[in-house]
Amino acid sequence: PEQRLNFLGRTRQLFSRLGNTVQETDTITDDLWDELEESLLAADVGPGTTDWLIERLRQRVEEEHMRTGSQVQRALREELASLLGPSSSLRFAKQSPLTVILVIGVNGSGKTTSIAKMAYRLSREGQKVLLAAGDTFRAAAIDQLKEWGERVGVPVISQHPNSDPGAVVYDAIQAAQTRGSDVLIVDTAGRLHTKFNLMEELKKINKVIQKFIPDGPHELLMVIDATTGQNALLQARKFAEDIGLTGVIITKMDSTAKGGFAFAVADDLGVPIKFIGTGEKVENLIPFDPQSFVTALFA
Ligand code: GDP
Repeated sequence: PEQRLNFLGRTRQLFSRLGNTVQETDTITDDLWDELEESLLAADVGPGTTDWLIERLRQRVEEEHMRTGSQVQRALREELASLLGPSSSLRFAKQSPLTVILVIGVNGSGKTTSIAKMAYRLSREGQKVLLAAGDTFRAAAIDQLKEWGERVGVPVISQHPNSDPGAVVYDAIQAAQTRGSDVLIVDTAGRLHTKFNLMEELKKINKVIQKFIPDGPHELLMVIDATTGQNALLQARKFAEDIGLTGVIITKMDSTAKGGFAFAVADDLGVPIKFIGTGEKVENLIPFDPQSFVTALFA
C-alpha cells in the first residue's frame, strides 16, 4: 500500500524532510519545536491541530524522558496516526438488501468524480451499483453523472433539471429494488453556501429513504478538496454538526503540498476519512488507511 501512496509527492517531501530533521537532532531545544510547528503549518495541518500536537509531544518528551530526536520522531508518527483514528471502511447494509450512500460537497470539490470512482471500485468488487442524479439544480450535473455512469458501466437514475431530488431518490430506490442492486449512491446539490436549502433538501431525501430503510442512509459522506484546505474545513464543520456526517472523502491529494490537511479534518470533524482522491482517473481513489498514510508520509 505504501507504493500506492507515492502520489503524495509534495506533501511527502515536507513530512519526510521534517522527519529527517527531527531524527537527526542531538538535543531537544525550542528550535526543534519551532521547526516542527513551521513544517506542520506548511503542510496545512492547521493551527489548532498543530498546537495540540506540539503540546502533546512536549508533554511526552518530559514524561517519557526522551533524549533523542529519533524518540521524538517516533512519538510524532504515533501521535499523527492516532489523530487519524482507526481505519474505517464503508458501512454496508445489514438489515436491508440495499446499501444507500449519500454524497455531499461543494461544486468543484470533485464530488461527481468521487461518486464515479466509488461506483467503479464497488462494481469491481462485485457489487451491483446504481447512481441517482440528486443534484437536480444544474442540468450539467445530471449530464456529467450520466457520462461518468456510462464510462464506468453503472446505470444512472435521473429526472429533468429542477425536479424534486426526493422524487429522484424515490425512483432510484424503487429501481434499485427492481434491479436487485446492492448499492445506491446518491449525488446531491453542490450549493453548500445556501446551507439552509441543502439541509432542507437532505431532510426530504432522508425521509424518502426512511420509507424504505427505517434507519436512513448507511453513509453520508462529504467530499472535501484538499487544495482548499482550512477554508473548506470551516464549512465542513458546520455540516458535520448538523447533519450527522459519517465520513469524508478528501480529493486532489495528488495536486497539493497540503496533504497534512487530512490530520486537521480528522481532528476537527471527528468523522473518519473513508477515501482519498489521488488523480483524475477513475482508479484514483484509495481507501484511507491511517497507518499506511503516516508511514508513506515519512518514507
Ligand atoms: P464536482 O463539481 O464537485 O462534481 O467536481 P468534479 O467531480 O466535476 O471535479 C472537479 C474537477 O476536479 C475535475 O476536473 C476533476 O477531474 C478534478 N478532480 C476530482 N478529483 C480529483 C483528484 O483526486 N485529483 C485531481 N488531480 N483532480 C481531481
